[in-house]
Amino acid sequence: MPEPLRDRLREQLASARPEALRDELIAELDQGAAVNSWRLGIDADRAREQLRMHEILEGGPEATSALRTEGRFGVVEVPTAAFRYAAILPSDGRPVVVRRPPRRQAGPERPGWTFAAARRRPDFTCGIAADDSEHAVSGATTLCGLPVEEVGLVLSHFHPRRDKACPSCADEAAAAPSVPCGQERLHAIIAEAEPGPLRDDLRAALERGAEITLWISGTDLHKQYAELDQLDENRAAVEAALASGVHAGVAHVLHGPWRSTVVLRENHPPLIGRGTTT
Ligand SMILES: [Zn+2]
Repeated sequence: MPEPLRDRLREQLASARPEALRDELIAELDQGAAVNSWRLGIDADRAREQLRMHEILEGGPEATSALRTEGRFGVVEVPTAAFRYAAILPSDGRPVVVRRPPRRQAGPERPGWTFAAARRRPDFTCGIAADDSEHAVSGATTLCGLPVEEVGLVLSHFHPRRDKACPSCADEAAAAPSVPCGQERLHAIIAEAEPGPLRDDLRAALERGAEITLWISGTDLHKQYAELDQLDENRAAVEAALASGVHAGVAHVLHGPWRSTVVLRENHPPLIGRGTTT
């Protein structure tokens, strides 16, 4: 079966550094490792985010210096059983190969992080009226009072500073009460979970701003994303809860050496499992 992405990456890696990592990645590609994602034309900040710089085991200094250059970057991910490789492809300069552990790692602690400081103004869906003006939609009306049937909904948030933004909606949106961040919401939800270290460690971590890497609602997506094989503690209960089909969602949180999995359920307390990330 032809693998155009693999071939294209292999070609681009010819001048990549560090050489030892480049040769390792090329050998993996030759043995059938597949390109998992290929992002094009992103800026250095987005590239750092995608690379999760704190996880990099090898190639870190080269990656840091490549990302200081001007221009845009491609980032290609190649996971294998032993490592998660990535290649950084600068628009101008030599590619860099980095190597990270097979599982995602919690980032450094965030001193001073609080629920209060992490609260944000809510986002509103944008609705476009017949006169082309843009309004903030909330439920059955816009914030300035138009029935939602009178605007066309678009897959975008209302931006109060745009020229076409309705001034009344902009004022109302600015005055809307702030909403809790994901960490604060999950913290409240797991208050109902069974007492013990699984709950209490996770609550303490969320209070310090632990990263939520997944939060999906609904009943089917977890089959693709829950990665239950990575659970060490409470795996059987989590699997049973997900198999019963009555759950409302799944969340993952990285903290310390763990990734916790929370199964959100309707009419039942949430269920928590966890596995180590190393
Ligand atoms: Zn309006």
